[in-house]
Amino acid sequence: MAELNLILLGPPGAGKGTQGERLTSKETLEYVVTGNILRAAVKEGTDLGVQAKAFMDAGDLVPDELVIGLILERVRSEEAAEGFVLDGFPRNVAQGEALGEALGELGRDISGVLLIDVPDEDIVRRLSGRRVSQSGRIYHLEHDPPKVPGKADDDGSDLIQRDDDKPETIRKRLAVYHEQTEPLVAFYEAQGLLHRFDGTAAPEEVEAQLRKTVSSLRLEGAI
Ligand code: AMP
Repeated sequence: MAELNLILLGPPGAGKGTQGERLTSKETLEYVVTGNILRAAVKEGTDLGVQAKAFMDAGDLVPDELVIGLILERVRSEEAAEGFVLDGFPRNVAQGEALGEALGELGRDISGVLLIDVPDEDIVRRLSGRRVSQSGRIYHLEHDPPKVPGKADDDGSDLIQRDDDKPETIRKRLAVYHEQTEPLVAFYEAQGLLHRFDGTAAPEEVEAQLRKTVSSLRLEGAI
């Protein structure tokens, strides 16, 4: 079967994580979540983590030279041989160009870019209600609460609010998204790869729409 190489694009809090998990749970696609990889490095105190932390806490992008090599390594890995879903990468045009070049060298292509769009005011509301577990599973106080308030469903650990989900940092992250990440919309539209989804719809509806597109991309790839 042809590989399927997907990019999830959209502002922070658009639902990329929720949808990425759902899409990859039933597909043999490697799910690469840049933010989770960086947060794990911060937690472990690796060189990368130490360098990345201040940028992340401030809501800025971590410099390209720290991120690009890291993600391309995952794209080239055995686990991604049948395809991948990238979440949180590329985050600017330089990263998009680096990804395109690396795939080109491997004789591979991007199958599609899935843009989940949500207006800024909804994002602020969503992110400030977001809580995460030790394992990285994301909950929402209103829309996706844990069974026991404040505790993760899987391991019972305390749910926490990420520093970068605090209101001032959310506004900074949205500004960074509009300035640096949004130009990728035109970049991929020009390549005929962009598919838009209304991220304000219910998660099940967004998932259904995404699956429809992913199925047709799979069929196109198989031809
Ligand atoms: P996320 O969970 O995707 O919102 O990522 C959290 C933070 O990690 C971002 O605010 C950035 O500081 C950093 N980050 C994630 N992905 C990237 C990327 N592709 N390039 C640079 N920084 C990133």
